[in-house]
Amino acid sequence: MHQSDWCIFFDFMTINKLIRFIENWAPPEIAWERDNVGLQIGSRDYTIRNVFLALDLTEDVVDKAIENNCNLIFTHHPFLFTPLRKIDYSRNPKASLIKKLILNEISVFSAHTNLDYTKGGVSFQLAQKIGLTNIEFLSPLSGKELKLVVFVPADYKKVVADAIFNAGGGIIGEYENCSFSSVGKGTFKGSANSNPAIGEKEKFTEVDEIRIEVIVDNWKLSGVISSMLKVHPYEEPAFDVYPLNNISKEYGAGAIGELGKSLSKKEFLKLTAGKLKTSALKYSAGKGTGIKKVAVCGGTCSDLLPDAIKKNADAFITADVKYHTFQDAEGKILLVDAGHYETENVALDEVKKRMDDFFVRNGEQIKTLKYKGNTNPVKFFINK
Ligand SMILES: [Zn+2]
Repeated sequence: MHQSDWCIFFDFMTINKLIRFIENWAPPEIAWERDNVGLQIGSRDYTIRNVFLALDLTEDVVDKAIENNCNLIFTHHPFLFTPLRKIDYSRNPKASLIKKLILNEISVFSAHTNLDYTKGGVSFQLAQKIGLTNIEFLSPLSGKELKLVVFVPADYKKVVADAIFNAGGGIIGEYENCSFSSVGKGTFKGSANSNPAIGEKEKFTEVDEIRIEVIVDNWKLSGVISSMLKVHPYEEPAFDVYPLNNISKEYGAGAIGELGKSLSKKEFLKLTAGKLKTSALKYSAGKGTGIKKVAVCGGTCSDLLPDAIKKNADAFITADVKYHTFQDAEGKILLVDAGHYETENVALDEVKKRMDDFFVRNGEQIKTLKYKGNTNPVKFFINK
């Protein structure tokens, strides 16, 4: 008997269920277009035993996952990023890692830039770690939402609206089931081949209709439309889809917030190094003022420096900052390079917390374990 047959009797916690839960928070559609997020290796149909979390996939991470009876590894950085042309175990360490994963039936799932760009994701976690409050996106995404307008006979208003809501339409920030409706008259005259739900073919008909309008994320549109069409009574339902320029409240790059009190440059650097557990920081000369408003972006985000300056941040914490970027920041903002690993690793606690909550809510005993080692390839020599 296959596992899928058993699923008829038991509600297994499959890898697919967990991926759908995480990707509902961090949709793959908001990831950088050249990213490679999602299931890297394995099968969505496997039942989860336990989950292992790490920033990167290394041999030691795989070994520790095996030791701890985990058959799913979550990583932030995708294991497969550049195309692999050969799986040669003797020459390529990545290939031998693939062999080990397959032989041990371990699946690997990654949420990368989709985790960076979502509310509560990498940059929000970094901002919280530093102690910022009133956290917002530094550079919110726009143009990801659409307006769906559907015309229904008055009696069908609720059933059609519910179908739209159930498929994920009508969500605004912390609110769901958001819609606007107005009354009006719909008219039509069906051809000889038509089969009208109301009125007769080849006769002009006027119906009391409701115009329902909702906001829909563009990647949910086809699901919302097919759900709506299933319950709409008309043979040819009338609906319109409009592009919107709304600024997203849910998705964006970087984060900005405020410290509880203004700190000196030295106090701020000490706080940052302490919270991110690093022994060294690179930084530019700041504005010469106290540090209160702070922008952050986990990983490589020098391209957001102009946004941080424009929003009048006193400091900007990111990583992989080049010499000339420090030069651009001089006198305008305290630019801090706190390390790629250090600024991103903070997000794993939030991923773990959400997974733990999800398993508890589903009555599962599944454990999530965070890798205790350090996958940071960058080492520091401190010349004391
Ligand atoms: Zn990264």
